Amino acid sequence: MNGKGIYMDNHATTPLDPRVLEAMLPYLGDVFGNAASRSHPFGWEAEKAVDAGREQIAWLINAKAKDIVFTSGATESDNLAIKGVVEFYKDKGNHVITAVTEHKAVLDTCKALERKGLATVTYLPVDRYGMTDPEAVRKAITPKTVLVSIMSANNEIGTVNPIAEIGKVTREKGVLFHTDAAQSAGKLPLDVEAMNVDLVSLSAHKMYGPKGVGALYVRSKGPRVRLTPIIDGGGHERGFRSGTLNVPGIVGFGKAAELSRDGMADEAQRVLALRERLRERLFSQLDDIFVNGHPVHRLPGNLNVSFAYVEGESLLMGLNGSTSPIAVGTSQLPIAVSSGSACTSATLEPSYVLKALGVGDELAHTSIRFGLGRFNTEEEVDYVVARVVHEVRRLRDLSPLYEMAKEGIDLKSVEWQRE
Ligand SMILES: *Cc1c(COP(=O)(O)O)cnc(C)c1O
Repeated sequence: MNGKGIYMDNHATTPLDPRVLEAMLPYLGDVFGNAASRSHPFGWEAEKAVDAGREQIAWLINAKAKDIVFTSGATESDNLAIKGVVEFYKDKGNHVITAVTEHKAVLDTCKALERKGLATVTYLPVDRYGMTDPEAVRKAITPKTVLVSIMSANNEIGTVNPIAEIGKVTREKGVLFHTDAAQSAGKLPLDVEAMNVDLVSLSAHKMYGPKGVGALYVRSKGPRVRLTPIIDGGGHERGFRSGTLNVPGIVGFGKAAELSRDGMADEAQRVLALRERLRERLFSQLDDIFVNGHPVHRLPGNLNVSFAYVEGESLLMGLNGSTSPIAVGTSQLPIAVSSGSACTSATLEPSYVLKALGVGDELAHTSIRFGLGRFNTEEEVDYVVARVVHEVRRLRDLSPLYEMAKEGIDLKSVEWQRE
């Protein structure tokens, strides 16, 4: 626990691992060269650091180092993958297949291409757990299909897609396959060879690295993927992404990748145990709560729960310290979680991801996303359980609907009177 509160929003971003910070520090100080300066040791030193980072990141996904293209983050990587493929292969076709639960970085990129008349896009539905069916991908492929883009793991509900099975289909059909792995990289194994993936979006700040740096893996062989760049300039990164490289960011990203891969199995087990402790304790103390997302195939650190009869926003405010807390003690700490998706929580629309699962608007409005990570502890989980249980009971005590439901009145049969 730290003074600012308890951080359980690790899908929005993760804290910088102190070991990552330590690796970065020299590159924010004395080692300032431009990795593209080939004529002196200042440049060589920076280039060496970038090469090492490239190796570490490639190793995380079993790729070749030269196939890693550095970007500013997964949003840019998604844009480059989708716009780059659509533009380059326009003589072959203009059809893209994706899914309704993708991150906005993918969905809005697809919509922008449709608006400009540059692509036609199929948005596949998902099952009630949020999974994409590889057979649905197969059926959607046409002779005009140039790209399939399906995320590795969902940022709201944590559902993990069958990437290897989808890769099998796309390889068989000779269609390029992109996956947004911002949430799963460093947490679950990802092997671009075994899974037949051609393009992968990564983000450092989702795996305990710095913000503002990411990568796109672009397969150079078997098949060789071609892309039209979206940023032109000095021809850096094989011409795919011009611009002076963020050397400290890349050093940190590399270190973060190495730490994640070295500790992956242990960390997944430890974080999963925390997640299950959270889930079991909430379920043993509260009725009418439901898990959203897949019961098994989900990110170890993700728990998305609907608390029926409780407005998610109200619960959030009871937890994050933005309302003066009801006195249950003197030492209340703010708790950081999300309701719906962080990216859509500015609006009061229920999450489009939950809607796609078939969760009704009412229950969707009661959902909270807990994102556990490397630095969470059992003590924090227990504290969060106590606070959530307290808040949910308090809010339900104020809810006439909850009272009626408890009295056995079927709320669907109630004829509401208009004032
Ligand atoms: C966070 C996230 C992104 C955006 O990554 P940035 O590096 O912040 O641009 C894209 N896709 C998914 C699934 C994410 O979780």
